Amino acid sequence: MIVYKFGGASVKDAEGIRNLHKIISGVKQNLVIVISAFGKTTNALEKVLQEWIEGNKAYISHMNEVYDYHYSMMEKLGEDQDDFKGLLDQSFSKLKDYLLVTKPGKYDFEYDQVVSYGEIWSTLIVSGFLKRSGKKAEWIDIREYLITDDRFRDANIIWSESYNRIKEVIDFRRMPLFITQGFIGGTLAGETTTLGREGSDYTAAILGNILEAEKVVFWKDVSGILNADPKWLSGVTRLNHISYKEAVEMTFSGAKIIHPKSIKPLHNKGIPLEVRSFQNPEEEGTTIKADVKPEEAVPIYVRKEKQILISILPIDFSFVMGDHLSRVFHSFMVNGVKVNLVQASAVSINVCVDNESPKVNALIQELEKDYKTVYNDNVEVLTIRHYTPQAIDMITSGRDILLEQKTRKIVRFVVKEVPS
Ligand code: ASP
Ligand code: MG
Repeated sequence: MIVYKFGGASVKDAEGIRNLHKIISGVKQNLVIVISAFGKTTNALEKVLQEWIEGNKAYISHMNEVYDYHYSMMEKLGEDQDDFKGLLDQSFSKLKDYLLVTKPGKYDFEYDQVVSYGEIWSTLIVSGFLKRSGKKAEWIDIREYLITDDRFRDANIIWSESYNRIKEVIDFRRMPLFITQGFIGGTLAGETTTLGREGSDYTAAILGNILEAEKVVFWKDVSGILNADPKWLSGVTRLNHISYKEAVEMTFSGAKIIHPKSIKPLHNKGIPLEVRSFQNPEEEGTTIKADVKPEEAVPIYVRKEKQILISILPIDFSFVMGDHLSRVFHSFMVNGVKVNLVQASAVSINVCVDNESPKVNALIQELEKDYKTVYNDNVEVLTIRHYTPQAIDMITSGRDILLEQKTRKIVRFVVKEVPS
């Protein structure tokens, strides 16, 4: 069996859904398709949520815009008959009623209750369309099968429970095609959770792992994984084959093309991951797998923006190694601040993290009880894998370098952001 994942940028209009239909029509094997919310629906629902929490009635008109968008999609797909419309209307009403009668609770919890609807609606519409065009397919509400803990907005998978439930429901003796939601899950108590923004990739990887897929394919609005973000650098090329390790390192350095958590479940079972172009499905794309013969290694450039560089210095000038290191990183962990880069000298520890104010402020306050801290915000981390002197020149010339780190294959720079 194989797993296909379609992101919001692919399924953003009726044309996209027709293209999805065309792509899956060429598949002979059993298939699970994982779909995220249409277009920018997740952002739109975040806005609805925000307004509702603030007690702003504008949320209602924004909800209606989201409804109209979905409804017009159904119309264009010829799905505006009573039965399909009924399903969508029911689901919209459920959310409307929820917002009407509920007093907003904790943000992360409410986020998952509200924003998760995007995936329910998109999969209902796609599944309706595929069935009407003659496909034997089953729609699955993954919240009953992909079981997570209750860390809302960033839920962790409970693997054993999910394994049992998914194995049972996705039974290809019954059906050759299953359609389900990315990004969302449910707790044992039946509350809806989400896996973090862009989490549909992760869902597809989890299903690939549990169902031991031959391969997992992410259909994207790019032709594969490129050696740099074309919005940043020109003259980029596609990487045809990369190893799992390379892919993990790239996402860790800030490459946004695939969700960082999606590699591990596939690596653990040796399942290849293809990243392919939704617009040009005949193109080969990029394959991520175990044994990749080192091609002529082109430099890979990755940029991680919106960083803050924190320098931590013991007040009494004592050495930082040993005891201090573990104390300092414990503070990062308990404040939920993920470390992107570390460099320690005898008397200082320098750390780059995402500049997310409330968390980072709390961390700095805590560190300041025992240490002196100095920080630079508005910095970014530039990484080059397989660097060459020319490659370094190209991205650092004229930049204000605050820190540099070099190993045999990788060089990383912390530089000041260029003010726009
Ligand atoms: N719809 C969700 C988001 O936009 C999940 C995803 O697209 O992967 O973040
Ligand atoms: Mg999306």
